[in-house]
Amino acid sequence: MNPLRIRRAGQMPASPQVQVAIVGAGACGLTAAIRLRDAGVECVLLERDAIPSGSTALSSGFIPAAGTRLQQSLGIDDSPTAFAQDIQAKAHGNAAAHLVGPYTQAVAQAVDALERHGLVFEVLDGFLYPGHRVRRMHAVPEHTGAALMVQLERAATTAGADILCSALVRELWVDANDRVLGLGYQRPDNSIETLACDTLVLACNGFGGNPQMVHELLPQMREAIFAGHAGNDGSAVAWGRQLGARLADLGGYQGHGSWAVPQGALISWAVMMQGAVQINADGARFHDETQGYSEAAVHVLAQPGGIAWNVFDAPLLEMARGFPDFNQAEQAGALKSAPDQAALARLIGCDAAALHTALAEVRPGLPDGFGRVFKRALAAPYYAVKVTGALFHTQGGLDIDAHCHVLKHDGTPFANLLAAGGAARGVSGNAVWGYLSGNGLLSALGGGWIAAGSAAAMTAR
Ligand SMILES: Cc1cc2nc3c(=O)[nH]c(=O)nc-3n(C[C@H](O)[C@H](O)[C@H](O)COP(=O)(O)OP(=O)(O)OC[C@H]3O[C@@H](n4cnc5c(N)ncnc54)[C@H](O)[C@@H]3O)c2cc1C
Repeated sequence: MNPLRIRRAGQMPASPQVQVAIVGAGACGLTAAIRLRDAGVECVLLERDAIPSGSTALSSGFIPAAGTRLQQSLGIDDSPTAFAQDIQAKAHGNAAAHLVGPYTQAVAQAVDALERHGLVFEVLDGFLYPGHRVRRMHAVPEHTGAALMVQLERAATTAGADILCSALVRELWVDANDRVLGLGYQRPDNSIETLACDTLVLACNGFGGNPQMVHELLPQMREAIFAGHAGNDGSAVAWGRQLGARLADLGGYQGHGSWAVPQGALISWAVMMQGAVQINADGARFHDETQGYSEAAVHVLAQPGGIAWNVFDAPLLEMARGFPDFNQAEQAGALKSAPDQAALARLIGCDAAALHTALAEVRPGLPDGFGRVFKRALAAPYYAVKVTGALFHTQGGLDIDAHCHVLKHDGTPFANLLAAGGAARGVSGNAVWGYLSGNGLLSALGGGWIAAGSAAAMTAR
């Protein structure tokens, strides 16, 4: 069987009919479903896994949103316009201009609406993620993507959305005018069932779980560990290619330069922002760590053995322990300690003099050789975690207009095909360095919110 295909036909085989079908029950699909149900539109989510999780459940679950009710109640002066400027500053002006404005407005509306559905958010305190001018990371109290998913699924099903699990969508049925008629999905017993729909939303994320596509489209990440959801196999890109859809920003992605090995866990970049450094196997630093964790993946992979050590001290360890991901990594044995620089050099396996030179640069005052300014030196005892660069998710995908309509090669929209989240192009431009922290869930919630509005409007016609 062709794993992912387009079936062209005058009509579908006899099938149940739904107003809106959504492929993928991650943050994007569930946010879309919640808005659709608020508008009284019936929708079915089709999810390949037995339990919805996606990359969203693997994530830290930090959602950047500006101008939310919660921010206002905390006295944080922010706006979608300021957020949009931060996105473009990180992407050097290369983020899709027609999406940045709508996404930054929509994600605030989505967060406010999710609160009305019973989700409780906090705005993360204590540090700023690189490139964000104010505190705008919203998280559920557990500070995990898994807990966020539990809440999104609860809200969607309570609102009346149907989630069909163990339903791997294989084929899209389209007519001669490229109008989507419905889809075919594979059940665990390999049988194919069909569902007709008035409108289809692709919320099935990107191609990080498809090694062939990563090899072809992101060659610099072909050896990297993929830390996202393995089921994100590039379905949207594969269908888009067969349909004649335009693809955009395929070189954009979220990397992460702080993936603990061999434990396989995220070590929060907040530790870097507050003063930690990365040291390679030669005992040298190799970049300004405050530029961003995404491009740091490429820098780390370029070091000997593709690894680096995150080095920090006791105050930073205390801060790191505020992150559930870090605690998991520590429990798994990722955290090492050294009473002094000589012991740290032995741990890293590097020359003690080289390490001493590198750490001597970590001191308050003038910028170091990479342009980084430190507030203080690191003090013994030292702590270290061995990390590599990982691919977290892809940011390129189906080209869409500001309403999340998928576009054809000629720039005109398909009649009833929408895409958002990782299935569509994001707002990070066409390279790893354009990714501003949180652009993933921004696209998922903001895009899901917009796509649902468009689908509801089409249903009302
Ligand atoms: C370790 C890690 C940490 C991260 N932390 C953050 C963070 O704090 N903030 C942030 O903004 N971003 C973060 N990200 C990125 C973020 O997780 C993603 O951008 C976001 O979750 C994408 O949401 P989504 O709904 O588009 O995709 P997903 O959550 O991946 O959902 C897509 C769903 O579609 C399903 N699916 C795929 N293909 C099919 C098919 N053919 N048929 C049926 N179902 C299908 C999948 O099984 C999946 O459940 C992180 C990523 C990782 C890996």
